[in-house]
Amino acid sequence: GYIGAPVRARGGCCMPVFDHPEFDQHESLHFVQDDKTGLQAIIAIHSTALGPAAGGCRRWQYATDDAAITDALRLSRGMTYKNAIAGLKFGGGKSVILASDEAPKSPELFRAFGRVVEDLGGSYITAEDVGCSVEDMRFVKEQTNFVSGLPRSGDDAGGDPSPITARGVLLGIEAAAKFRLGKDSLDGVRIAVQGVGHVGLHLCRLLHEAGAELIVADVNRENLKLASNELPVTIVPPAEVLFTEVDVLAPCALGNVLTSLTIPKIKAKVIAGAANNQLSTEEDGARLADRDILYAPDYVINAGGIINVAHEYDGGSSEDDVLGEIARIPERLEKIFNAATTSKQPTNVIADELARRIVADAGNDSPAAA
Ligand code: NAD
Repeated sequence: GYIGAPVRARGGCCMPVFDHPEFDQHESLHFVQDDKTGLQAIIAIHSTALGPAAGGCRRWQYATDDAAITDALRLSRGMTYKNAIAGLKFGGGKSVILASDEAPKSPELFRAFGRVVEDLGGSYITAEDVGCSVEDMRFVKEQTNFVSGLPRSGDDAGGDPSPITARGVLLGIEAAAKFRLGKDSLDGVRIAVQGVGHVGLHLCRLLHEAGAELIVADVNRENLKLASNELPVTIVPPAEVLFTEVDVLAPCALGNVLTSLTIPKIKAKVIAGAANNQLSTEEDGARLADRDILYAPDYVINAGGIINVAHEYDGGSSEDDVLGEIARIPERLEKIFNAATTSKQPTNVIADELARRIVADAGNDSPAAA
């Protein structure tokens, strides 16, 4: 494998990196190839100002290399902001493994990825994200200690972060419903969940317990079946789920769902879900605010997973400790909702400013800056 090689598009022409639209003072971007396993991965380190860059590994089939770079750049910056607002002493990073028939999922593939993470010397700490599992991280762990999200032991924090993420999203939905709809409970509140995968299914269980009425969609029939066998849900086609007549929309699939084309058709008053990078562009936050739709910034409401992963990595925390931290997600959201109302600015702008201030303050405190 090699690190830091020049980027070449599959067509052969050079792809921009430093003037890439999503390049935002990222500290480093690493391109990796392992001939034996076919591993191709990109690791983006956005910031280590608060600590080692922490963020999961996504395995996904991208249409183009540029789509993979874009994802890594956006997701890693999101991790800087997420970790900052969650009060964690970690910076922001993210990795993507390019899924292809030539590089099937295998223990060797994840071992090769683990060696790359090890080579980065602790500047990047990985965990599972979409397309990777707790099991996969065990093979990464054989090669490096800079990995979290491993199988749990006893009452210690750790393991699959998605149930904890879902718990945080539930609390966030409650806070948003109270703020925008004046509801003290989710009893009878209509909620559309886009994507009933790891987080989405857990979230549906919690929302059902809270009395919400559920409308769900998924492109994966198996996942949809799991949800509808277990819970009373109304299934709608994936193309319609964003636009159903509901109080709350919870995007729990992939990013880029809130765009200039989708926002005008959304009927929900609240958008609060687990997916990363829900807004296609920053301006889409303003588009939502103009329509008086309350948007819970994704990286604030979905921080439960990284809080869990971070506590596991640091060691010495129990699941109760983690749940105590998750319980602070609603107050962080309320602060952002209030500031957005007072300043008449979109919630995403307020959250980004808050995160950037935390990162900048850390830089000012560092011995180098003193
Ligand atoms: P997952 O892959 O288990 O679930 C995603 C689900 O969305 C799958 O069932 C998939 O079929 C479905 N889906 C994909 N495209 C869809 C579409 N167009 N319409 C409807 N359904 C669609 O992933 P996950 O771990 O549940 O994560 C979901 C989202 O939450 C991701 O954006 C992830 O980055 C984010 N997130 C996850 C965690 C975590 O702890 N797992 C933490 C923070 C953020």
